[in-house]
Amino acid sequence: MKATIATLPGDGIGPEVMVETLRVLSAIGSKYGHDFTTTESLIGGIAIDETGNPLPDETIKTCEEADAILLAAVGGPKWSDPTSDVRPEQGLLKIRQHFGLFANLRPVKTYPALASHVPLRADLIEGVDILFVRELTGGIYFGQRKEMGDSDEAYDTMLYSRPEVERLAHVAFRAAQGRRNKVTSVDKANVLASMRLWRKTVVQVAEDYEDVELEHLLVDACTMHLLTRPSSFDVIMAGNMFGDILSDEASVLAGSLGMLPSASLGAGRFGMYEPVHGSAPDIAGQGKANPIGMLLSLAMLLRYSLELEEEARAIETAIDDVLADGLRTPDIASKGEAVCSTTEFVDAVLAKLA
Ligand code: ATP
Ligand code: MG
Repeated sequence: MKATIATLPGDGIGPEVMVETLRVLSAIGSKYGHDFTTTESLIGGIAIDETGNPLPDETIKTCEEADAILLAAVGGPKWSDPTSDVRPEQGLLKIRQHFGLFANLRPVKTYPALASHVPLRADLIEGVDILFVRELTGGIYFGQRKEMGDSDEAYDTMLYSRPEVERLAHVAFRAAQGRRNKVTSVDKANVLASMRLWRKTVVQVAEDYEDVELEHLLVDACTMHLLTRPSSFDVIMAGNMFGDILSDEASVLAGSLGMLPSASLGAGRFGMYEPVHGSAPDIAGQGKANPIGMLLSLAMLLRYSLELEEEARAIETAIDDVLADGLRTPDIASKGEAVCSTTEFVDAVLAKLA
């Protein structure tokens, strides 16, 4: 097949993990006979430096012409002044909104090879395989907010509409049908009006999916259940803020923030794929970045936007095999274990694919 992928390397370790991931894309193209074209555009801090805008129009245009977007990471201490009007993260919020990417899919799995690296009992984390479906373009992060000058008051508003919850619930239930047929919906319906609408809407959508079991959990209880019974979850759907918090908590189960991929999807096949981690300025430029989150994001891109399931699986299996062989970037190495560089890890992945 022919496909164009818009790449946005961004800041910090972003460009390092992107370069390595494009080697894998090119290997997949040769192996399976696909004609992949990639473009490269600016976003985040580097875009501010070069154009004054965290999301230049040129970048949007290039992305509009592509079949999918592959993004690495944005931000860093250089642009971290929270009172500044232009910040790298605005590039992210704007691009998600521009393309209507309302559903953020974050799979979290445990790897037997890394069990000793996870600070939870091995029997608790065995077989954990959770898919978070997080609402991405609404809720409190996009609500009205006000900081009233020098006054001692400020507010943020959490608003959800029925259509916003419905379309997310359909994504969650359909995903569950391809997995283990269970959806856990997270809310705070005992306190918040927006979350009562959330629960009521999810219950109604569930009527279309009789084969899927629906469980409701209050967000505070969910934080605890994630640590005490993580393998009982299949799909967890949550609003923007709760999904943000819970999926970071769940990253502990995988062994490192550097392991996790994500897909941001809208109504069609188009999507944006990025690792869950940030730009990790503390390790940038040192060859220490774990490339797995970025590589698995590429696998999600192949699966969802290009419908290349076999190719996606080939990447996932190669990573499993390299981990089983004992290769470890510093973030997933236990005391005394030898470590490898980002490039060495990807060399090993390429060798498995060959
Ligand atoms: P953001 O605000 O952009 O989400 P953050 O402050 O949450 O960023 P990260 O940049 O993700 O944080 O980094 C958090 C910690 O995780 C850092 O110590 C960083 O070095 C580490 N880390 C993040 N990504 C990776 C990776 N791919 N490989 C190894 N370590 C990583
Ligand atoms: Mg973060």
